[in-house]
Order: sequence, then structure tokens, then C-alpha cells
Amino acid sequence: MFDKILIANRGEIALRVIRACKEMGISTVAIHSTADSDAMHVRLADESVCVGPPAAAQSYLNIPAIIAACEITGAEAIHPGYGFLSENAKFADIIKEHGLTFIGPTPEHIRMMGDKITAKQTVKELGIPTVPGSDGEVSDADAARVAEEIGYPVLIKATAGGGGRGMKVAQTAADLSMALSTARHEAKTAFGNDTVYMEKYLQKPRHIEIQILADSHGHVVHLGERDCSLQRRHQKVWEEAGSPALNAQERDEIGGIVTKALKKLGYLGAGTIEFLYEDGRFYFIEMNTRLQVEHPVTEAITGIDIVREQIRIAAGAPLGFIQKDIVFEGHAIECRINAENPFTFRPSPGTIEQFHTPGGLGVRFDSAIYSGYKIPPYYDSLAGKLIVHAKNRNECLLRLRRALDELVVGGIETTIPLFQKLVREPDIINGDYSIHWLEKYLASLGY
Ligand code: ADP
Repeated sequence: MFDKILIANRGEIALRVIRACKEMGISTVAIHSTADSDAMHVRLADESVCVGPPAAAQSYLNIPAIIAACEITGAEAIHPGYGFLSENAKFADIIKEHGLTFIGPTPEHIRMMGDKITAKQTVKELGIPTVPGSDGEVSDADAARVAEEIGYPVLIKATAGGGGRGMKVAQTAADLSMALSTARHEAKTAFGNDTVYMEKYLQKPRHIEIQILADSHGHVVHLGERDCSLQRRHQKVWEEAGSPALNAQERDEIGGIVTKALKKLGYLGAGTIEFLYEDGRFYFIEMNTRLQVEHPVTEAITGIDIVREQIRIAAGAPLGFIQKDIVFEGHAIECRINAENPFTFRPSPGTIEQFHTPGGLGVRFDSAIYSGYKIPPYYDSLAGKLIVHAKNRNECLLRLRRALDELVVGGIETTIPLFQKLVREPDIINGDYSIHWLEKYLASLGY
């Protein structure tokens, strides 16, 4: 096992990794920008190294400074968290070249899944169901023919896409050339690559993803699904495990398909296969080769510490359990408490004046904020994650309601008031929502 791990991240996820390390008896090194000298992850780690000025490009994304921090402190492995360098294959390459360990999959798999066309072709060959579309890049000349074949509406997607950018819907043939040129333009600007492909646009899907763990001894297991259909601008705001739309048989079936596919691929570490789900069918959209923000809901219903397993796997240890040891107990929901206006989602950085976290049975609050902490304006607006777990979905919703009413984050705007409304909405209570539900709901409130 490693003696010392460097965490190449900040905020709640840096704390999450530090906590796992402490329980495993591993020393921790935090990195931080000059804007984060007072941050909680710096206080909780055993050591810390300043890697640059506030701008992420010069600090949390500064690969030479991060490698130097490892060398200075003697850290043997790097946990990238999510975001920042977590899906950067070059970073994983460089870590390897320096004789250090990247806590994550191989650079080859990161690269493969980072390109959407390659990812889709690869998983299709491995037997994972995909959205009907232009199997590969689509040219302006072919677009109309391909769209007729799959049938309107169609979605133009950037192969280098991420965060919902470079994605445009064409409802009819008349919209097609406009959708193509805007998607290409957005993709070129955001990713420096204007290659696009086409998919059938699903009208009312849910977003359902499968969490997997794979060790270096050929064992692959799935930890069930998460339903992340409540989204705004393709950003998740509320996640559940399991999905209100799936039964145990469907879970076993899709879990089995994914597990088999990743075993064939020789995948290593934690990963998530994201699907759209409509009318009882799954359609692959992408694979995330890293830890996800919403991993705690899976931890709640399985009792498995996913970060601990990531570290064990990276150290070459075998998974300590097989598929039939994994039992799903109860239901869990996570709400992303962002430092944003609850309805317009405009960022609201500033000083936390009052702070009180809810407690009690089945309540977890993952956060790096504290009373008097000043949220810097340079990074993303996630201030905390409220996770509740209960015997079934109904009890979980009631627990969430009371936990949200206890939570106080004063001095800035947060998304708490939005969740206080959502948890009382009949469609949410009934589990009856697609990926478009939240935007329609916000529009109905006049936003
Ligand atoms: P990104 O990497 O930009 O997040 P994804 O491929 O994961 O892109 O898609 C993001 C979101 O876009 C999905 O969660 C879903 O809401 C929507 N989406 C993607 N593909 C389709 C599709 N074929 N039909 C309908 N919606 C889609």
C-alpha cells in the first residue's frame, strides 16, 4: 500500500479523498493555489504545497508544479478527484513517466473514452447498446441523408464535447444546416475541434448511469445505478440510487452487460457508464473514467467506500468482494448545494456568515466550507453535497425534507430553496421525471 498520496484537487472532493486516506493510514499532501491558502483541504491534509496563482490553468492544472510537489514531499501516487486533470490522459502519462502512480484507469482508456466517437464505437463492439446515429463523424454533405435515415429530431454532438457544449438539436430538415454550423462553431471554440456526429434525439429519456469497479486481477463488479435526470443545462443537480424507474431485474441485466464489456476491455479502476433510458431501453451516451460527484449515493446503498477501493486497486490489491456480495439497501438522494441563485443559477461567491449542517440517522454532508470561509470566485460553485439514506424512497424524501430544513448556509445565495420546493413536488415524489423536467419546471416559475 502507498505511504503518501497527493490530492490534485480542492474543495469537498479533496476532503473526501483525505478522509479515505486517513482511515487507511496513508499520509496526505494537499496542493493549493494562492487563493486557497485558508481552504479546508489544506488544513486537513498532513502537508500542503502551493502550486500557483488563483487561475486554475496556473495552479490546479499546472502539471509541472504538481509533479514537483510530489517530488518534494515524496508522495508516491496522485488522486485527481473529478474535474481538473482527472480525465487528462497526458497527465496520466506524465505521472507514469515519473515513476508515480495515477489513481485511475490507464492513459489509453482515458484517451479512448475522451473521444466520443471512439468511445461509442468501442462500447458498441463490446455489446453495450448505443443511440442510433451516424456511426462516426458526419460531414455537411452526408448530414441530410443520415438524418432522414435515423428520423427527426436529431442531435448534432461534438466528438470532443463535454459539459453539454457543442450539442444542437435539429427538429426538422429545415433546422439541420443551422444546427450543424452552430454545433461546429461551439465545438471549435470550446475544444479546438469541430468534428461532429449525429444521434437520434430522444424526447423524454431519463439519465441512468452504472457505477463499476475493476481491479488488476480481472475482477469487475457493478454497484448498481444512479438516476441523474434532474438537470439544468446538462448539469446534474439531484441524484438518486437506485432509479425510481428501474426494477431489480433491469438493474441486473444492464449491470451484467456493462460488467462483461469492461472485463473484455481490461478496464482498471472506478468508472461510470452513462445511459439515456427511454421506454425500457438503454442507450449509451458516454463513459466517465473517474470518480463522480454523485458517488456517495452509491456508497450509501452499498456500504462500499469507492475512494478506498480506487486506492486499493491502484496499489494492485484485488477487490475484496464479488458481485453476489454486493447488496443494495434502501434508497439514497444527493442534492448539490451550489453557491448560486437557486432559480437563475447565477454564481454567488462570498463569505459564509452562518453555517449549520444537518445530522441524524442517514444524513451525510460532504463539504469544504466553514463559518467565516470566503468562497473564491475562481472555481466551480459546488459548496456542498447533502446525501440522505433511508429504508425506501418515501422515507428518504421525508428525511431529505427535514435535513434541508435544518441546513443553514448564510451570507451567500445557495440552491437550498430550490430543493425545498422540489422535495414537495408531486412529480418528484412520484419519481416521474425525465431529463427535461427541471428546465420546464423552472420555466413554469418564470425563469
Ligand atoms: P457532455 O459530455 O457534454 O455532458 P453527453 O453526451 O454526456 O455530453 O450528454 C449530455 C446530456 O445531453 C445528457 O445527459 C442528455 O441530457 C443530453 N443528451 C445527450 N445525447 C442525447 C440524445 N441522443 N437525445 C437526447 N438527449 C441527449
